[in-house]
Amino acid sequence: MPEEQDVELEARLEDQERFAPPESFVSQANVSDPSVYETFEEEWPECWEQAADLLDWNESYDEVLDDSNPPFYEWFTGGELNASANCLDRHLDERGDEAAIEWVGEPTDEENRTYTYEELHREVNEFAAALREMGVGEDDIVTLYMPMVPELPIAMLACARIGAPHSVVFAGFSADALATRMNAADSEYLVTCDGYYRRGDPLEHKAKADEGLAGVEHEVSDVVVVDRLGDDYDHPMGENHTAYADLVEEQAGAEVDPVSRDAEDMLFLMYTSGTTGEPKGVKHTTGGYLSWSAWTSRAVLDIKPDDTYFCSADIGWITGHSYIVYGPLALGTTTMMYEGTPDYPEKDRLWEIVEEYEATQLYTAPTAIRAFMKWGSEYPDQHDLSSLRLLGTVGEPINPKAWKWYYKHIGDESCPIIDTWWQTETGGMMVTTLPGVKDMKPGSAGPPLPGVDAQIVNAQGDEVEPGEAGYLTVQKPWPGMLRTLYNNDERYIDEYWAEYSDTDSDDPDDWVYFPEDGAKIDEDGYITVLGRVDDVLNVSGHRLGTMEIESAIVGVEGVAEAAVVGGDHEMKGEAVYAYVITEDGYGEDEEMRDRIVEGVEDAIGPIARPEQVVFTPELPKTRSGKIMRRLLEDVANGEDLGDTSTLRNPEVVREIETKVADD
Ligand code: ATP
Ligand code: MG
Repeated sequence: MPEEQDVELEARLEDQERFAPPESFVSQANVSDPSVYETFEEEWPECWEQAADLLDWNESYDEVLDDSNPPFYEWFTGGELNASANCLDRHLDERGDEAAIEWVGEPTDEENRTYTYEELHREVNEFAAALREMGVGEDDIVTLYMPMVPELPIAMLACARIGAPHSVVFAGFSADALATRMNAADSEYLVTCDGYYRRGDPLEHKAKADEGLAGVEHEVSDVVVVDRLGDDYDHPMGENHTAYADLVEEQAGAEVDPVSRDAEDMLFLMYTSGTTGEPKGVKHTTGGYLSWSAWTSRAVLDIKPDDTYFCSADIGWITGHSYIVYGPLALGTTTMMYEGTPDYPEKDRLWEIVEEYEATQLYTAPTAIRAFMKWGSEYPDQHDLSSLRLLGTVGEPINPKAWKWYYKHIGDESCPIIDTWWQTETGGMMVTTLPGVKDMKPGSAGPPLPGVDAQIVNAQGDEVEPGEAGYLTVQKPWPGMLRTLYNNDERYIDEYWAEYSDTDSDDPDDWVYFPEDGAKIDEDGYITVLGRVDDVLNVSGHRLGTMEIESAIVGVEGVAEAAVVGGDHEMKGEAVYAYVITEDGYGEDEEMRDRIVEGVEDAIGPIARPEQVVFTPELPKTRSGKIMRRLLEDVANGEDLGDTSTLRNPEVVREIETKVADD
């Protein structure tokens, strides 16, 4: 239970809706001139030369944007560059001895690994040489099915060096998911790992990789295996399987000239996280993507070469691609990698790492922040977190209560928080405050970044009034955007453009990108993301965002996390069903239930009153940590559960089902 003084402070924070960035931050920020919004608008699309200028080009580009064939936009056309050279070679002279990657394994008794830029450069070259010798050529897709080991970013950069696009498959995904992705990409090469540590135990990964390989329909010519577990796992090796360490040793000292890639050449393929259904193979390019991740890393994450920047995401997701690997390394900073979970061996592991490495930024997800909040502030309180200068969040809407907890208990009220809205498809951040320029409003991501034309529209595509719920759209292309869905231009148009575009037109003004998120905007142009379009409820003719109701519930004292879905209702059309996790030390009783109902009525109105409140120890989450509301909706409606295989915790849905039936 919080102490009295704490309660007072919370009350003060609870009422505060606007937070100015601390002066100490603004005075050192990479971007602090408010005129950037205006100049970018006036100079669009040439404004994006600023992003391209953060990179070294072998051949300078002819045109910033070629929009002659929408929605197949091309950026920095005619330009040539190499991503690996931009992330490594160009830093060697000045920063060769500085740490590029600080890697922390999960076991606490294991020595952490530091790769200086020189060391990273050396190993990337050696592995690039090995790949080449194996026969990997330019444009061959290499699948990387690996956990958070340093060999993952090394393999990514080695692929980039020889112009072979990588397709990283998150290690937590099933054998089936691996096979599907290798088949879809026609990928003939796999780099994988014997296993990794999870909550103190070695987790065998190689057998799963082999099972996946059995499902690949074409011939796989080579499989490379990183040995992470040593004696803890005597992993099986197939005929065309080679140990990573042997390959690198064979190529000791080898140097591979970085291949000069066209700006529009594919850098990688990445499948979306699968929250809403069938994963999509998103294609990102070398020039546009790399300049976007570098520019946003600089402007939003405020990354400087001397920082020790810590993003706790997995590299298997786009967040890790853009903001552990490509963005930070392009800027020549030190980027951290942590193998394990934040609660092993204790619930203060992340804070221990932040303290030990004096991390300057922390970028994480609402699901993690809500877990920290549930565990309690005593864990961060045990550590000196004063090295932190900026905090970030991505992946889901963050409730104001969780935002304020993060702000107070991790940031000590002296770090700006960036709530960054973006997607696998956008390549990098799109809507968020520039931390050195804009005030923050908890619960709202903020205005679109300079040069990003995001608008909230109604079903007809017309801009809505401030305060009204509508759909988030992006009206102009941007360099980091996906170029297509792999081998499927038609689905690319269907999924992202058809809704609001005149698809017969070749005028770019007639093309609008639709991310399928609901949102609203306020008088200051701040955007609040309300959740997936499919998640918006319709109660007695009123459209309610899941995020608004969930925030109201989480605002109730003792509630840590909530998910709201619409259940069929005879009278109302849909009724609000709430699934609630309480903070440690609070009861799950009638009194709590009443306070929750009251909290929603006070914050939104009787219309949003939950029909049913179900307490649960966990919510069904995707492997990337997003709440899977689709399944909770099936539970509410007593329907058969659809596919639960992409869940991190499939057992929890059954548990909830039983509870609902008992209620
Ligand atoms: P799939 O597209 O396969 O269903 P996914 O959409 O979960 O999977 P991602 O690209 O990882 O895959 O997630 C992007 C989505 O995450 C956004 O469309 C949005 O719904 C949500 N999101 C990300 N950041 C934020 C944020 N800061 N605020 C609100 N929502 C966010
Ligand atoms: Mg999506």
